[in-house]
Amino acid sequence: MPSTHDGLIIGGGISGLALAHWLGLDANPGSWELWEASDRLGGTIGTDRTDGYSVDWGPNGFLDREPLTLQLVDEIGLRGMLEPANDQSEARFIVKNGRLHPVPFSPPAILTTGLLSPSEKLRIFAEPFIRARRDDSDESVFDFAARRIGRGAAETFVDPMVSGVYGGVAKELSLPSCFPIMREMEVEYGGLVRAMIAKMRQKKREQRASGVPKKKSGSAAGPGGRLTSFRSGLDVLVTRMGERFRPIIHLSRPVQRITRVGDSWQVTAAGCEPRHFSRVILACPTFAAARMLHEFDRELAVALDAIPYAPIVVVATGHKREDITHDLNGFGFLIPRTQRMRCLGSIWTSSIFAERAPSGHRQFRTMLGGAGDPSVLDLTDDQLWQTIRRELDPLLGIKANPVFTRIYRWQQGIPQYTLGHRERRAKIEQLAARHPGLSVVGNAFYGVGLNDCVKMAHRLAQVIQKTNAVPA
Ligand SMILES: Cc1cc2nc3c(=O)[nH]c(=O)nc-3n(C[C@H](O)[C@H](O)[C@H](O)COP(=O)(O)OP(=O)(O)OC[C@H]3O[C@@H](n4cnc5c(N)ncnc54)[C@H](O)[C@@H]3O)c2cc1C
Repeated sequence: MPSTHDGLIIGGGISGLALAHWLGLDANPGSWELWEASDRLGGTIGTDRTDGYSVDWGPNGFLDREPLTLQLVDEIGLRGMLEPANDQSEARFIVKNGRLHPVPFSPPAILTTGLLSPSEKLRIFAEPFIRARRDDSDESVFDFAARRIGRGAAETFVDPMVSGVYGGVAKELSLPSCFPIMREMEVEYGGLVRAMIAKMRQKKREQRASGVPKKKSGSAAGPGGRLTSFRSGLDVLVTRMGERFRPIIHLSRPVQRITRVGDSWQVTAAGCEPRHFSRVILACPTFAAARMLHEFDRELAVALDAIPYAPIVVVATGHKREDITHDLNGFGFLIPRTQRMRCLGSIWTSSIFAERAPSGHRQFRTMLGGAGDPSVLDLTDDQLWQTIRRELDPLLGIKANPVFTRIYRWQQGIPQYTLGHRERRAKIEQLAARHPGLSVVGNAFYGVGLNDCVKMAHRLAQVIQKTNAVPA
């Protein structure tokens, strides 16, 4: 009888690595292993360093509001290398009629913004008087926003925000799954403005009681947190975790099949003999997990496969400062679908993190595609490039070709929490629960941000530790 190992984590993205951390597998690995299909760790996290540019392939940071992520960073000894977004990158812009407009963050700014018509502005101010919808049925992000702040503001602010975070379409994505806090604000306080006022009052009370002024929340990252990374790029996090878990990591080991044999899980990867584990954690995209489980539990495989993913293309460009007219004081801009442009938005990377471009140069990262434009994957490098030039150059006053370009195509880049996501997730959890020792973790369930992945991995580690690693 082949020996049975303690456990296997499948997937070496942030979810799998964070799980290894929370399980304490650096100090006490037992006979746990982590198998990763590709020849590197990190999944969508990666950084290229060339010609003085440091370019993130996918995510460029995390919001500093999640204590568990900060705890993880601390525990792996990286706290001193954290780099918060620059204060000068606080302003954000939205494109309308070929111009960049600052996002109005205050009532006076809403009154004067060129982004909305007078009636659209009035409609925003009516938000506190809109009756709350308290039933728990699903609602799209767009419908929620249109109902509370009006259609114009939903198209101008919420639609591009959803493209920016999820690469998704606001009319298709589920509000309670994507932005549960907004749903809570309506249910608990009766509306967004009422909730904000109540929260501000509570904060003041807490401040008065403790005597300690609270840190400003809502900053260069937008509301509720500051974008944070590491000085030379986000892959620092993955590299450090790779060092800590080196003894248990096996790269270039794509899992093909999982099945139950007696009391253990038999896992087969390309080019290896099948191995046996007491516990298996799927920390890979759901479409990959579905392929592994297809023969063993077709129903679970179908449920996993029902979570759609959107493609996203990141085009990073480096420019000489003197070739750009715009002052670039800000975070970047988003483009509402109503503007009929192909780019979703552009981040001014070197305004946010100064060391990402050599002195006298600037870096931008522009996103295209998303669920609303999957055919972007068919564009050649040259076509992508022409699109960016046509759409970005007039907005920023770019007068010459970039000196540096990198293109990253993510075919199934970001899971989409479309309407019905809660039911799809519950079904996966219910079907997986039939199999002792089999669990799922990752960005397809409770949030796509790095913080969400770290948090879900923490919750799962607690469950595993409670059941003492070996299922009954
Ligand atoms: C362009 C882009 C920009 C983003 N920007 C941000 C941002 O700024 N901030 C933020 O918080 N989040 C951002 N995100 C989201 C965030 O990056 C992801 O949600 C998160 O990194 C997902 O981590 P994960 O470990 O769950 O999955 P993944 O990173 O997808 O990792 C899964 C791993 O499983 C492996 N795998 C797949 N199949 C197999 C197999 N058969 N056997 C073994 N291993 C397998 C894969 O190779 C991969 O390494 C962005 C995402 C994208 C695509």
